[in-house]
Amino acid sequence: MPRNFCALRLPVASLLVMLLPCGSSYAVRATRTSESSGSLTTVVIDAGHGGHDRGGIPGQRIAEKDMTLDVAQRLRNVLSASGYRVVMTRDSDVFVPLPTRVAIANSYRSAIFVCIHFNATQRRGAGGIETYFYSRDSLPLASAVHYQVAGGAPSSNRGVRRRGYYVLRKTNIPAVLVECGFLTNPTEAAYAQSSKRSHKKSARKKKSSSKPTGSEARSGSIDRET
Ligand code: ZN
Repeated sequence: MPRNFCALRLPVASLLVMLLPCGSSYAVRATRTSESSGSLTTVVIDAGHGGHDRGGIPGQRIAEKDMTLDVAQRLRNVLSASGYRVVMTRDSDVFVPLPTRVAIANSYRSAIFVCIHFNATQRRGAGGIETYFYSRDSLPLASAVHYQVAGGAPSSNRGVRRRGYYVLRKTNIPAVLVECGFLTNPTEAAYAQSSKRSHKKSARKKKSSSKPTGSEARSGSIDRET
């Protein structure tokens, strides 16, 4: 279903790349560059896994579900601050079935769907970023997002690939799934975690300079697929 989402592609991609590799610097650079995007401002962000579904592979030290939520929340913050309407399929460590994620995405028109995952494998040396799409309509979005994300991270480029993941097949809005690196790769895992830490630090600073309320629960793990 061709939709007028072209103008939104690049801004979202730009925001993604700021988020994933840059950690604390994202907020400064997050400006809304798509004044031409008109009313197209809904981004459905899907943090992979959650709850009992830790993601990743057995024995994996860092929980994928934790890192996907971290990236999703940072992306949400940036997009919201830039004027986008953001919908999260989950915003805490809970399990959300795939059909529910898809139903959420499909309940919005003129939206795009960005699914966040991290990769994992037994081979510690494996690394890189890859972006998946399924429908042809999603290819331009996938290419733009991938170009930005892979170009901004110190990881190898594993390319844009077509695959029939459930959330990509069943969504009827442009949809991409980004594998943001391998949490089983020590370098990429450290990078993802350092981005997360610097974000939490700046968030704490912001919180303490305003009002001392709120708390956050955490957990961790990883995995792939969808
Ligand atoms: Zn995953």
